[in-house]
Amino acid sequence: MTKKRSYRLVIIFSLLLVMFINTAAGVLAMSTDEIQNQIDSNQAQQSEIEDELADIREQISAQKEKDEQISQEMAAILEEKQVYASELEKMLDDLEYIYQQIEEFDQSIAETEERYEEALELFYNRARVMYQYTQFDSLRLFTESKDIFDFASRDRLFARMMENDRKTLEDLEIMRTDLENKKALQQQMKVDAEALVAEKEAVIAAIENEEAVALDKLQASRSALEALESQEEAMRRESDRIEAEIRELQALYEQYTTNYDGRLMWPSRNTRKISSYFGMRIHPIYGYPKMHNGIDIGASYGTDILASADGVVTSVTYNEGGYGWYIVVYHGDGISTLYAHCSSIIASVGETVKQGQVIALVGSTGASTGPHIHFEVRENGTPVDPLGYVSP
Ligand SMILES: [Zn+2]
Repeated sequence: MTKKRSYRLVIIFSLLLVMFINTAAGVLAMSTDEIQNQIDSNQAQQSEIEDELADIREQISAQKEKDEQISQEMAAILEEKQVYASELEKMLDDLEYIYQQIEEFDQSIAETEERYEEALELFYNRARVMYQYTQFDSLRLFTESKDIFDFASRDRLFARMMENDRKTLEDLEIMRTDLENKKALQQQMKVDAEALVAEKEAVIAAIENEEAVALDKLQASRSALEALESQEEAMRRESDRIEAEIRELQALYEQYTTNYDGRLMWPSRNTRKISSYFGMRIHPIYGYPKMHNGIDIGASYGTDILASADGVVTSVTYNEGGYGWYIVVYHGDGISTLYAHCSSIIASVGETVKQGQVIALVGSTGASTGPHIHFEVRENGTPVDPLGYVSP
């Protein structure tokens, strides 16, 4: 597109250049036909761009649909993740409870063990006190007995007396075993709960994987959309620019094709004196025969030069060795007028002027022997005798 565009710009600039180079010599090379051709070509170009724009807009809408779909997928994934996350949270709460239970059992077991140790200590102490007053060597008995209960059972009296302690110890032993069993149960529950948590965490990790993939897709979709939208924006601007060009060309075309009513007026209100006529003559400066393309109207320096008819200014130029400062007005129907040797130019290129409007001031710029208006009338660029159009 860029290539195509710059190519087209080159054409337009070339055309404008040709137009102004030729108007510099007083010729309008860009005919109304050429302007119309340019308009047609611009319109074709624009219609092509509009087609491409329609295509891009279709792509944008498809991309937006895709984007919407991905967004929905993403929302579903996030919702699912949320569900699993709250399940996990509950599981972790349960697990936390189990850890607490286990900790409590550990504490109870430790307490029971402590109480057991205390009870045992008490039992030993009583046994020692008791056997200090018996004939038995307590120490020997202790070392021969397999354990303290075995020892105690050897003596019925002792056994009876120690029954309560023995019962306490047994109860504590049972209590401890019971606590160990319960703790083992909690530990089993802990293993199961931890397995469930791990399972849930794996599920969530998988969902997070999906989420990352969906996020990548979403980002890719967004940048595709952005690229399409900036492409659309660029093409829309290009289309607008061409449209503006078409409008300018159409305005130019209208200026070129309207207003001329077939009547030109004398370009000065101060003088009607013709100092040199149209046709071959001996040039007043160069001294050899040369074609004189207009008439010279003797006028005072700084007096008004008037537009011969309604029209558009197509050239304001300075030509050192010839016309000096000169202005060309196009009136339509291939007719243009040229006013040379001006001291200053008042109207500007592209300006629409009215018949009788002051467009420049008389001077003696360029190859001139004194202040005068060199006035030309051209038909499709070819100089003709102005006296066929105006009379003094
Ligand atoms: Zn002249």
